[in-house]
Amino acid sequence: MATVTPEFTAATDLAPQLEPLKHDYMSQKANPLSRIYEKVQNGERLTREEGITVYQSQDLMAIGILADTARILRTPAETRDYVYWVHNHHINPTNICEAHCKFCSFKKGPGSPFAYVMSVDDVITHVKKYPAWESLSEFHIVSGLYSEHNLAFYADLFKTLRQEFPKVHIKGLTAVEMDYLAKLDGIKVERVLETLKEAGLDSMPGGGAEVFAERVRKEVCVDKISAEEWLRIHGLAHQMGIPSNATMLAGLGETAEERIDHILAIREQQDKTGGFMTFIPLNCYYDNNKIDERNAMTGVENLKNFAVSRLLLDNVPHIKSFWIHIGEKLSQVSLSFGVDDLDGTVIQEKIAHAAGTESSEHMTRENLLTLIQRSGKIPVERDSTYNIIKIYDNN
Ligand code: SF4
Repeated sequence: MATVTPEFTAATDLAPQLEPLKHDYMSQKANPLSRIYEKVQNGERLTREEGITVYQSQDLMAIGILADTARILRTPAETRDYVYWVHNHHINPTNICEAHCKFCSFKKGPGSPFAYVMSVDDVITHVKKYPAWESLSEFHIVSGLYSEHNLAFYADLFKTLRQEFPKVHIKGLTAVEMDYLAKLDGIKVERVLETLKEAGLDSMPGGGAEVFAERVRKEVCVDKISAEEWLRIHGLAHQMGIPSNATMLAGLGETAEERIDHILAIREQQDKTGGFMTFIPLNCYYDNNKIDERNAMTGVENLKNFAVSRLLLDNVPHIKSFWIHIGEKLSQVSLSFGVDDLDGTVIQEKIAHAAGTESSEHMTRENLLTLIQRSGKIPVERDSTYNIIKIYDNN
């Protein structure tokens, strides 16, 4: 008896047929998201209430179509299938920190046997131990609030990194760290930004934002700067020609409305100063910290965070899913929920791993390419400001 082999149709061959089906599905009057779909198609700005409506919907397919439509319509046609990544190295000069964020599993007290402090020379040696350091394009530098690592230390570190690795972009220090350095020296944050820019700082990472809601900050990170101050520092950086990213750390006990208000605060700041390149929704982990694990984000909530961020942030060009935080497989799915960036190779991530993320501490270029290609997209290696380094032709 002859074996019947089912005819195999590649997903990419099906795509043109699926597009009209998606459109019909979203345009049905009975679909509660059809009015939002219409607004997305017309390029109209979505409201807070519409963000909440999307969040409350259980129609995951419709949410994905909405976010992907927004991504496609806001992206030049020739780059619509691009997924960006960067060859980067994380540097955390110390894990000693004066603050007491309840979600932090990275921080250690100065007397802890697990505390470490790196000198400028230690950092250089550490980077050079990585065999592919010559092809790195970004340093991502964040650390604990530690008084011996003051402004002079970071100015020296950035100058030395600039001399040793002149082609590598320095993305360094959160707004919380900038504020800390200013207070240590009794100077304005503007002066800290100027000094570090002169020393080699190119951009700022988006950390320290957590969730902007005062109610949540009082509960989980009482000694961190306020939301207003975080936004003000990023605004100052933008005005000085230092672009930045923005994050949201969900899973701290915040409501969906508080997440939406956080995203809208970023949109408002972006309208004023325009320097955010990427928004990165993150999720908390619960090992070795004081946050109740019952607040943990589900996979569906993570996907909704990506989708709602893409829908509401019509003025931020990129939405990133940090594979370290949500795992490789869910980040692959997130590419159908408005995401167009997977961060990067990330040599030796320490912060999320201290809190129990189970993903690897580093991903090879080959793994990253496969992950993107097998979701039907084109991997594009970028630098920190989204200049294209290499397009990996899927053929
Ligand atoms: S999150 Fe940052 S500021 Fe807060 S305790 Fe940890 S290292 Fe310190």
